[in-house]
Amino acid sequence: VPIRKTTSIKEFLMQSVNFCLCGSSVISEFCIAEELWNVFVDEGQINQVINNLVLNAVQAMPDGGIIRITADNFYLDNEEGGLTLKKGQYVRLCFHDQGSGIPLEHQAKIFDPYFTTKKEGTGLGLSTSYSIIRKHGGYITCESQPGMGTSFIIYLPASSEDE
Ligand code: ADP
Ligand code: MG
Repeated sequence: VPIRKTTSIKEFLMQSVNFCLCGSSVISEFCIAEELWNVFVDEGQINQVINNLVLNAVQAMPDGGIIRITADNFYLDNEEGGLTLKKGQYVRLCFHDQGSGIPLEHQAKIFDPYFTTKKEGTGLGLSTSYSIIRKHGGYITCESQPGMGTSFIIYLPASSEDE
């Protein structure tokens, strides 16, 4: 996989999200930290992940709403927690929507290929996103409270190189 460096993950993220929202009744709200660490990404693939998450958020808010995107640096100095996240530096992206939420009994299955609750869903958006993020050495998790909305959180390993 040609993973190339993006120093402007901020601009890339904003453009990609806003492009997906064109013509929908969902609006975006960004909260992006000033000095984000560098990440090496395949922009085409990360764009595909962003598309999948934004499309799911739009579909979860048929009457419109807000998708809030935050980005910050995240340093993990131990390997505790439910996640098997490795110790290290990550750029963390969070996509939060105000949609229907995901029932607890579905939460363990949403990253499985072909799991869908939609009439015309493929069930491939999240499983594809999961593989892409893992290929980047990153992680993707979901937190959702039915009736309160859903957050998808992506951890992309920060690059130690500076150039
Ligand atoms: P698809 O969108 O084709 O159903 P995905 O892999 O993108 O496939 O999503 C799988 C399932 O996860 C969806 O059918 C839906 O039940 C649930 N889901 C994903 N994102 C959200 C979200 N933002 N809000 C509520 N449910 C979601
Ligand atoms: Mg989808």
